[in-house]
Amino acid sequence: MSAPNEAFGLQTVPIATPFPFGDANMYLYGGGDGLTLFDAAFPTEESWLALQEALAARGNTVRDIRRVVLTHHHFDHTGLVGRVADESGAEVCGHPEIPLRAGLAYSFTEEHSAWMAALLAGLGTPPDLVSGMLERRPLQRPFVYRVDRLDRALPDGAFFDGFRVVHVPGHSPTDTLFVHETGGFSITGDHVLEHITPNPIMRRPPPGEEGVKCLVQFEESLRLCRSLPLGWCFPGHGKPFTNHAAVVDRILSRHGERNRRILAWLPEIGATPYETARHLYPRMGTDVLFFCMSVAVGQLELLESQGLLHSSSDGGVLRYFPITEKD
Ligand SMILES: [Zn+2]
Repeated sequence: MSAPNEAFGLQTVPIATPFPFGDANMYLYGGGDGLTLFDAAFPTEESWLALQEALAARGNTVRDIRRVVLTHHHFDHTGLVGRVADESGAEVCGHPEIPLRAGLAYSFTEEHSAWMAALLAGLGTPPDLVSGMLERRPLQRPFVYRVDRLDRALPDGAFFDGFRVVHVPGHSPTDTLFVHETGGFSITGDHVLEHITPNPIMRRPPPGEEGVKCLVQFEESLRLCRSLPLGWCFPGHGKPFTNHAAVVDRILSRHGERNRRILAWLPEIGATPYETARHLYPRMGTDVLFFCMSVAVGQLELLESQGLLHSSSDGGVLRYFPITEKD
């Protein structure tokens, strides 16, 4: 069964990417008060042309876009925000923390590199891998437009143009669902993806704040999401789907499988998050280091929150240990 996009007033604008997750989706929505663009893909000419073509197909131009609504602050969803807003006067709408979190995630300063290096060292990562990863990081820069403005903050529970705003932090701190209250469909971003397991990436906390356990937070949000009547889900990547409860269950069971792999392997002398990431991803290179480390850290924090592991710092490096009879 294919999604009745047209009945919902939705037009998908898929943008090809060089990343493993494939296309990134933008959605034009004309069923409300003026034209809305959900998400904004990449700051590339290809992205811009694809958007213009999609607009032309419905007899619109960029100037007709009244608002840009963001599902979260990640760079594959925000690239054209500035250009669209400048050309159309559209208001930029989304989670209140989007500019703050985008600023924390997409900094390319020496100071930010030092923060990343210290974080990874404290997780037991070998210094040559850390420096290799930091050398690669500028390659991401051409794809990043860091959202630094928000004309309309959308708090949890807010309502606009027929959509209920539901914050579902976890995959990112700004993940948001837009649930159309009468239309039988939702814009779901990267919170639930049918064929990809969305992973929380380690994030820098705002100054003065403690870091949160991202995977624990993600699972709480997934359970909330599972209970909501979302109808057709229009995701940030991949095709629309209707069975979001089954998709949530698949993601949760994937976390459970990883947990079991870690518990079956973890030696009594304990292991660092780096060693755990190496166990889960034996061929991990510098290109995916931060991602793989994020997965390992998330799983270890989840296991500890479930009372199945404990951790301690050993000379400034974190180690996780199995719970034994003695404990
Ligand atoms: Zn994405």
